[in-house]
Amino acid sequence: MMVAEAGKKLSSQAKSARDAQRLAVQFSRPLADVTDLINENIAALQRHSAYLEGRALAVAELEDNLYVPRIKLQLTELKHPITVCTSAQCCEVYLENNKKQHYYKQRCHDPCFLNNVPEDIIGSSDLMYCATMNNQYYCKKCSCHYSKHMHVFYLTRKAEIQERDEDQTGQKVKIRNTLEVMLKELLETLRVAESEYKQEREVVVRIMAKFSFFMEHNGSPLTEDAYQKYLHYLIARETRYGPDQELVQHYRSMLNDYIHEKDNIKAKSESKGQDAYTLTLEDVFDCAEALYDLKHTGHVLRELYNIQLKCLDSKGDKPGTSSALELNWSKKKSAD
Ligand SMILES: [Zn+2]
Ligand SMILES: [Zn+2]
Ligand SMILES: [Zn+2]
Repeated sequence: MMVAEAGKKLSSQAKSARDAQRLAVQFSRPLADVTDLINENIAALQRHSAYLEGRALAVAELEDNLYVPRIKLQLTELKHPITVCTSAQCCEVYLENNKKQHYYKQRCHDPCFLNNVPEDIIGSSDLMYCATMNNQYYCKKCSCHYSKHMHVFYLTRKAEIQERDEDQTGQKVKIRNTLEVMLKELLETLRVAESEYKQEREVVVRIMAKFSFFMEHNGSPLTEDAYQKYLHYLIARETRYGPDQELVQHYRSMLNDYIHEKDNIKAKSESKGQDAYTLTLEDVFDCAEALYDLKHTGHVLRELYNIQLKCLDSKGDKPGTSSALELNWSKKKSAD
C-alpha cells in the first residue's frame, strides 16, 4: 500500500502534478493549525520568562527578609539620678513596632543630688526643690512646670534589630548561587526554544506560500487558497465569539506574513532571466520532508496530515493517490 521510496528524497517521477497538488491542499489545514500552535508556544514561553524574571527579584527580596525581628531595649545607666522633663515638647517621640515611644532627651538637672525623690514618678512634689526650678516651680532649662518632671536612674530607648543567623549565611549564599545558575539556565532554555519556534514559523509560512504558488501555477481546480481561507475563518470565529483582540491581531499578522511571502515568491517568479523562480514537483515533496523534519512541530504535522489521509481513505476518496502521498516517515524515524 505504502509507496516508499528507496532513497531519502521522494522521487518526483513517481508523483504526478496532481499528487503534488493534493499534498499541498492536504497540508493547508495542518499548517495553519501548526502555525497557531507555534504562536501559542512562543506566547507561553515569553509569559513564563517574564514570570521567572519577576521571581528572581522576589527571591532577592525574600533573602533580605530572612531575619528574626527583635525589639531591644537600649539602656543608658546613670551614675547619679537626673531630672528629666516628660512633657510632649521636651520628649522625643518615635515609632517603634508601630507604637509610640518616648525618649526623655531633655535632661534638666544632670546630675541631681536631691535625696528621697521617688524614681520614675512624674510630678513628684519633691522635684519642686530641684535646682533647675525657679521660684514659680518652672524649669529654668525647659520652661515646663515641675509637675512634668521626673527623677530617673537610667534612660531607655527601644530599637528593632534584625537578628540573622550567621551559621546560615554561607548556606544562603550557596543556595542563592545555585538558584541563580538554575534560573539563568532555564531562561536560556526558554530563549532558545522561543527562537527555534520562531524559525519553525518562518519555515512553515514560507512553505505554505510555496504550496499556494504551486497550486496556482499548475492549473489546479483547488486554487482557492485553503490556508488563507482557514485564517479568515479563525479571525471571523474569534471576532464573533471572543472577541479576543490579541488573538485576532495574532491571526491577522499570520495572514499578513503569509501574503507577504506569497507576494515575494510571485515577484521572484515574474523576474526575467535565469534566476527566475520556479517550483518543481520535487520541490513540493522536499518541502513536505522539510516540514516533517521540524524539531518541535514536525511530528504534529505528520500526525495531522496522516489523519487527513485516513479520513480520505475511509471516505473512499482515493484515486490511488492519497496513499502514494504518504511520506516514508517510519524509515526516516528509524534512521535518527
Ligand atoms: Zn536637681
Ligand atoms: Zn525641665
Ligand atoms: Zn520641659
